[in-house]
Amino acid sequence: MQRLVTALDAAKSTRSRKAKVTELASLMASLEGEELAFTARLILGSLLAPGDARVIGVGWRLLGAAAAKIIGITEAELGLRVRELGDFGDTLEALMPEHPSRLALSEVPKLVDALAETPDRQTKLQLLDILFSKASPAEAKYLGKALLGELRIGVQRGLFEEGLAKAFASPLEVLRRAAALVVDPGQLALLAKSKLLESAEPRVGHVVASMLATPTETVKEPIELALTVAEDKLDGIRTQAHVNGFTVRLFGRGQDDITDSFPDVVRALRGLPRPAVLDGEIIAITSQGKVRPFQALQARLGRVSPSEKITGGTPVQFVAFDVLFDGHSLLSQPWSERRKRLDALPVIINPFTRLDPALPLDAQLETLFVAARGRGHEGLMLKRIDSLYEAGRRGSAWRKMKRPFGTLDCVITMAERGHGKRAAVLSDYTFAVWQGDELVDIGKAYSGLTDAEIADLTTRLEALTIEKRPGGAHRVTPSVVLEIAFDGLQPSKRHPSGFAMRFPRILRIRDDKKPEEADRLETARALFDAQVDTGHRETAPQLDLFGPPRP
Ligand code: AMP
Repeated sequence: MQRLVTALDAAKSTRSRKAKVTELASLMASLEGEELAFTARLILGSLLAPGDARVIGVGWRLLGAAAAKIIGITEAELGLRVRELGDFGDTLEALMPEHPSRLALSEVPKLVDALAETPDRQTKLQLLDILFSKASPAEAKYLGKALLGELRIGVQRGLFEEGLAKAFASPLEVLRRAAALVVDPGQLALLAKSKLLESAEPRVGHVVASMLATPTETVKEPIELALTVAEDKLDGIRTQAHVNGFTVRLFGRGQDDITDSFPDVVRALRGLPRPAVLDGEIIAITSQGKVRPFQALQARLGRVSPSEKITGGTPVQFVAFDVLFDGHSLLSQPWSERRKRLDALPVIINPFTRLDPALPLDAQLETLFVAARGRGHEGLMLKRIDSLYEAGRRGSAWRKMKRPFGTLDCVITMAERGHGKRAAVLSDYTFAVWQGDELVDIGKAYSGLTDAEIADLTTRLEALTIEKRPGGAHRVTPSVVLEIAFDGLQPSKRHPSGFAMRFPRILRIRDDKKPEEADRLETARALFDAQVDTGHRETAPQLDLFGPPRP
């Protein structure tokens, strides 16, 4: 355990990517079996494999009760100290009695399994007692953070994969290909260790990283009309459906198992003639089958085993747009072939239109875009018919066309109370995009959400508050993702990102996205460059135009 803590400390404290990779590589190279698998997951902040239906079920209350006992203070006192220090794990490190570690790394996954397998609070408390009475303060810090799902050591999946490739001397492309098919970092590490990365193939029941799309404005290569199709961009939940006879499993964005939330989709997909892995979107529809907006799905998001009243009140539909496996892997088949295979399956399929090389591109896209919006969809997807399924990659083979102005998915870093009737709620948000492993603020917005959404966000942001600034601003743990629409980007010294947004407004709360999935500064820069290229950037901006409109 000590070796693990030293490596995590080192990886966390250095800003150098290369040094982080080296630390992680030497840690992983020294491990094998269950210890390796567990450590790989832990590095990425998780104690269980993605898709593992079990939950550990340890919240801060239970953890607080166990820790307070070992430290020898009351839970209320511990709560106060946590509030002072701003983080549960850091507080454990500060208060735990100093003693050398008596915890072997091999014991931890077993204790975690035992925690996930018992629903009983007393048993969980006993297990936590064993874990924390053996752990040194530094170990308690990481274990506490990991149990609460808050272990952030600044290591994203890409960096982890580099570390793994280095640890077991695998070529990075081979590791990356396997990583898209084996999303469990533990399983991936074991394959790398045993030199079996090349054998990774999609399998029914094992989630594959989804192929991603790039905003049209940011792709430099021209669109080849003869090789491109357009599809409506559906506004729902990206879903990978794994069907094997009457067994169906659904995975959402981020590879979480959402099967139990959509029994109606499970019923609709049961009994396909062959095993299949389908890529598509769950959308909300009316009882007449008309498309409803994303907001309508709110009633279904995060609900496990919904009642018939809920499924009947908010009917949904799985619409497939790709197939990754139909008895054989289709990842290396071009889109056109995969589409033929998809058309042969009895499922609801998103139609496509071929672009006509004889007609001007812009006019075609405009007509298709307006038609897609008219059908209630978000915009268009443009796909190359000769493209392979690039699992986990955001390339130029799929382009998304949302709206004529830009949007960015940003993470809230700070929140403030508003004015007038908003004085009691946190309604003014500062948000950021990623630059490397760091969040850099890019803007501030006050408008776009309903009063109910703001009230709900206020509760969430209060709980996420790390620090209250003298002026009343709350610095919060980056957790909530907002989709921000704006009419332009402009260089500005006001924000650390170096950009300001023109008329930013909140389109929606992206609870389907984790903070790591928010946009990067490079995307903002590419949007900015695209404005310059197309003559949409104001050359002499009046800076006061570049702030949020006051309500
Ligand atoms: P965004 O969520 O804005 O990053 O846009 C990309 C998402 O669009 C994908 O992850 C899918 O969830 C969704 N999407 C909607 N319609 C399609 C489609 N026809 N093909 C591929 N992705 C689609």
